[in-house]
Amino acid sequence: MGRGTVGGTQRRYAALVVGLAALLAASPVAAGESAWSRQTEPAPGPARVIGGYTHGCIAGAVALPLDGPGYTVLRPQRLRYFGHPALIAVIRDLGAWADRHGWGTLLVGDLSQPRGGPMSYGHASHEAGLDADIWLRLLPPGQRLSDAERRDPTPVSMVRTGAPTADPAVWTDTHAALVRAAAQDPRVARLFVNPAIKATLCRAFPPDADGNTRWLQKVRAWYGHDSHVHIRLHCPSDSPGCVPQDPPPPGAGCEAEGFAWWANRIADRLTQKASAPAPVAAPVAGPPQSVPEACGGVLSSR
Ligand SMILES: [Zn+2]
Repeated sequence: MGRGTVGGTQRRYAALVVGLAALLAASPVAAGESAWSRQTEPAPGPARVIGGYTHGCIAGAVALPLDGPGYTVLRPQRLRYFGHPALIAVIRDLGAWADRHGWGTLLVGDLSQPRGGPMSYGHASHEAGLDADIWLRLLPPGQRLSDAERRDPTPVSMVRTGAPTADPAVWTDTHAALVRAAAQDPRVARLFVNPAIKATLCRAFPPDADGNTRWLQKVRAWYGHDSHVHIRLHCPSDSPGCVPQDPPPPGAGCEAEGFAWWANRIADRLTQKASAPAPVAAPVAGPPQSVPEACGGVLSSR
């Protein structure tokens, strides 16, 4: 790739960051979300996911213990460390695996609220107890966070703005192995990483070799996600009311999801939007986002 292309990509990326920030700032506040955010205990009963990742809730969620071998939960004051038992198991297994390899401690960000549902800030998903953010900043073996750091931790970005691959000053083989291990877990449906991180993984693990295509396919490039990897589980078999997501398209996605492709795609959309004729009247807001009706019972059950 020539210099001019890289510069163009950087500019497009900058435009896309600004554009997305504007879109997010304009997002309507979801109705009823404060009721979900106020919950402090899971709904009783067996684990049961209702709805989907971005439009759902969970009964019988389980709390991830705040500390365990190889992991520690960040910002416990937010009460976002609840999930389906399968999600709790995946995180504990990943922590134990990191611990066994002497990689230190995984920092665990948001899972779901005690009963799932929309969050008051921070996420468009994580509603069904099947999503979790694992930070890419690893705590060296033997090191612990102070209580103050844990309540207000500092993320470390693995990507320099506009760079097409992960920052070699901070990104290590351990990070690559961590994402691969999570993606190879059959309970995991997909992961989200920054496009530059996906490009780095594609380079480190050629899609044609060693069955890499299988797990790379699950690793999806998405904006943000430069300081954490987002892990999303399949719908669990105990939850017939769980709405799955279509599987990722076939192939490793290394061509399609390369950084430049992704940045160009978004930049084109923004350009189209900017050049479209101004609307005559302000668009009428759609119905407020809500959870499936069956989630009403999850919210009210005692
Ligand atoms: Zn997330």
